[in-house]
Amino acid sequence: MSQKKKIAILGSTGSIGKQTLEVVEAYPDQFEISVLTANNNADLLIDQALKFKPNAVVITNEQHYKRVSEILWAEGIKTFCGEKALEEVVEMQELDLVLTALVGFSGLKPTVRAINAGKTIALANKETLVVAGEIITKMARQKGVHIYPVDSEHSAIFQCITGEFHNPIEKIYLTASGGPFRGKKREDLSQITKAQALKHPNWEMGAKITVDSATLMNKGLEVIEAKWLFGLKREQIDVIVHPQSIIHSLVQFKDGSMKAQMGLPDMKLPIQYAMTYPDRLTTDYKRFDFMNYPSLTFEKPDLDTFRNLQLAYDAMDQGGNLPCILNAANEISVEAFLQDKIGFLQIAEINEKVMGLVQKEASVSLESLVATDLEARQKARELI
Ligand code: NDP
Ligand code: MG
Repeated sequence: MSQKKKIAILGSTGSIGKQTLEVVEAYPDQFEISVLTANNNADLLIDQALKFKPNAVVITNEQHYKRVSEILWAEGIKTFCGEKALEEVVEMQELDLVLTALVGFSGLKPTVRAINAGKTIALANKETLVVAGEIITKMARQKGVHIYPVDSEHSAIFQCITGEFHNPIEKIYLTASGGPFRGKKREDLSQITKAQALKHPNWEMGAKITVDSATLMNKGLEVIEAKWLFGLKREQIDVIVHPQSIIHSLVQFKDGSMKAQMGLPDMKLPIQYAMTYPDRLTTDYKRFDFMNYPSLTFEKPDLDTFRNLQLAYDAMDQGGNLPCILNAANEISVEAFLQDKIGFLQIAEINEKVMGLVQKEASVSLESLVATDLEARQKARELI
């Protein structure tokens, strides 16, 4: 019997999805691909499927189904389309691990289905926890399902608390690179172009998260993600700007001792740790050299200029459906910025306005969150 881990990658054509496939390719005796999914990038999905021979693929955008299915069914690869198929495919019996690398709210339903089916989750899609952290973590506890973080900061925290099961976390520090506009003030940011925002100093990622990093929304989403992953209160989560992106985050314990996880920025490390925990793989990735980094520096985040981080703290404090409202507004405002319909500063302005416009609900369900998400998107579109 094969001991290989059978993996589904939701969003295999994205930045995290492609890097996950690099890991799988490098360790053919450890992993096997069972499922790949894409939204629009049919060509890449076809190439990936021909190479990794999954049991099934899903292309959510139905327009591409005919072409994808003609090629892949001929190779014996089951091919499906649409959102429902994406939700169903994670229940496939053979799966050991579902790596969620979809972007935005679209990750929520498939993740819920995978947890319900008892599948271990490697979670990159942070928006799922931002929107429905309470529901997801409760469901995972009830089902005895592990959620391993892929996000580098959360992987760092997870690595720091490994072996510390009985020692409560006093506080965590999530590190932030500060993005391409660190040190700038509001007046410097009014004319920012898409091209400038898409140039991240340390990481190469999908467009949405790259803009989120430039506005610090990404760090705000990560604060909420950390709350749910590690069961923390607001006062236990701090953000510190660390432009070199070498320390990926830190944990402070009750005796005041701190643990940090460090390394060169490379998403393959947290991806593969989530796939192999508690083991580590031997790699030949470039090693850190202290002489290349004679100083590691730290700053306070500027919450006035990068208002999105403050909005995320506010949403987390109020809870209920407010994080869902903020997330939906942000998906729409970032999309509009990427289409040159609004300026950089308007992203946070629209997010804040939408937070005030949508009906607040203190307690939420999956159904109510779907309705909140739709309403907030609608309000954001009206403002654009
Ligand atoms: P990308 O935009 O590069 O990839 C997104 C993937 O999801 C693609 O495969 C895309 O398909 C698919 N997709 C997009 N929208 C939908 C939809 N509505 N329905 C179904 N599939 C969809 O994103 P990233 O890889 O950068 O990010 C993925 C997640 O991981 C995000 O939540 C992000 O915050 C998180 N993350 C990313 C990091 C990174 O380094 N990139 C670091 C830490 C976290 P297609 O391309 O075929 O259209
Ligand atoms: Mg991160």
